[in-house]
Amino acid sequence: MPEPMSAPSFESLLVAPQLTVLQAMARLDATAQGVLLVVDPARRLLRTVTDGDLRRAALAGIAQHTPLDALPAVPPLTVGLQASMREVQQLMDQRSIDHVPVLDAENRVVDLVTRRELSRRTYLSAPHLGDDEAPLVREAFESNWIAPLGPHVDAFERELAQCVGMRHAAATSSGTAALHLGLRLLGVGPADVVLCSSLTFVASANPIRQLGATPVFVDSEPGGWSMSPAALRHALAALARDGVRPKAAVIVNLYGQSAQMDELLPLLEQAGVPVLEDAAESLGASLHGRPSGSFGRLAVFSFNGNKIITTSGGGMLVGDDEPLIAHARKLSTQAREPARHYEHVEDGYNYRLSNVLAAIGRGQLRVLQQRVERRREIFEHYVRELSAIAGLRWMEEPAGHRGTRWLSAFALQLPQASRRRDALLDFLERHNVEARPVWKPMHLQPLYAGCRYFEHAPGHDVSRELFEGGVCLPSGSNMEPQQLEHVCELLRRGLQLATG
Ligand SMILES: *Cc1c(COP(=O)(O)O)cnc(C)c1O
Repeated sequence: MPEPMSAPSFESLLVAPQLTVLQAMARLDATAQGVLLVVDPARRLLRTVTDGDLRRAALAGIAQHTPLDALPAVPPLTVGLQASMREVQQLMDQRSIDHVPVLDAENRVVDLVTRRELSRRTYLSAPHLGDDEAPLVREAFESNWIAPLGPHVDAFERELAQCVGMRHAAATSSGTAALHLGLRLLGVGPADVVLCSSLTFVASANPIRQLGATPVFVDSEPGGWSMSPAALRHALAALARDGVRPKAAVIVNLYGQSAQMDELLPLLEQAGVPVLEDAAESLGASLHGRPSGSFGRLAVFSFNGNKIITTSGGGMLVGDDEPLIAHARKLSTQAREPARHYEHVEDGYNYRLSNVLAAIGRGQLRVLQQRVERRREIFEHYVRELSAIAGLRWMEEPAGHRGTRWLSAFALQLPQASRRRDALLDFLERHNVEARPVWKPMHLQPLYAGCRYFEHAPGHDVSRELFEGGVCLPSGSNMEPQQLEHVCELLRRGLQLATG
């Protein structure tokens, strides 16, 4: 990837009223934004100057050495820091303008929104198709394998299992469905207790409840942000004191990186608790060279539209235990018994992936390594470009880990972190950039109020801290270099406003 040309900085658009028309033309040319912001020494906006203003001045015979403050006055149209993207868009449309300066409470100009930005949204993680998906889907159409199941499903299962170093795999209609099946296959049912990472998407925990069991949530560790071995130790000890042996543990590999399996697994093994790895976000990652998703008794992947590869919607349950995975396939197709008629003994689901979507998945799997490389580059780019800003704590990649940086994420390590985080997210949203808070931990969700929770250390709730100050940045592997550069420029300005 060639280094992108650096975008003109916001600061280069600010000019003094003494600047001449000729100088303004040169500056407009150099900055190429179509607008300059004329400010007094306190950065209060006096007016804007556009290409059109200078053209009209020339036609009116105004000399090129005239200072900008001698041009006919036009009161600038501005918005405050609270304005949403929609409000800015409305102002642009109503007044036929392409630029809207943003003023802070002291009327200083702190930002500029352009029509160009509003015409193109930067997504958190958009689907990124390769060259093989369409031909594979066409093949599915031509062979009339549109129905669920078919040769692409079998091949996708084989190829994914091979990719993560597990012997067997069952393709499902979503990652959530695979989690539900996985927990059921581990025997989770009413009155059971299941350990689960707190810092995760709600889909990791919901199947526990849906099976009638009770989740017990475990905090994150401050470095890599996945399950804290210290918190797990506390949880196991406290449950053992109460005479409770958890039926299973859902360990989430957060934001494209494996949890500290080398520390977590021995604790669970000793307590006799089987592990279901929620690897929905970590396909393509490894720990000590071993693929993420190969550590638990079972593991789950997701191919939802925002994941590192996608089938538009889909999931996979993987494991080494052939009868277990065969049972997953049976349960996912309404648990039909082998008979000519429809015979049912077990309670089943309609959870199977369709052959058409499996064809997409096979194509996506072929470009997985490229997607990983690009996402890692994007993360490194952010870290480099924002290195001068204090108070950012990036999600670490501990020794032995190789993550995918599915989402580039940092947490603000400053007082009033959540207020600053929201100010930054509002700023980005006004520029049509999608960024998100870090997952809101399950132990803070109204849905899971009253569930037990074990902190990393007494009085140190790491996942709450990460939520309050945490931001996930646009990380899509198909983000263009200029788009990434623009987001970096916005982040520098937005962070300065939010943390200054
Ligand atoms: C996306 C995700 C899921 C759910 O996967 P779906 O395919 O959307 O059902 C589960 N767990 C985690 C951690 C996820 O990020």
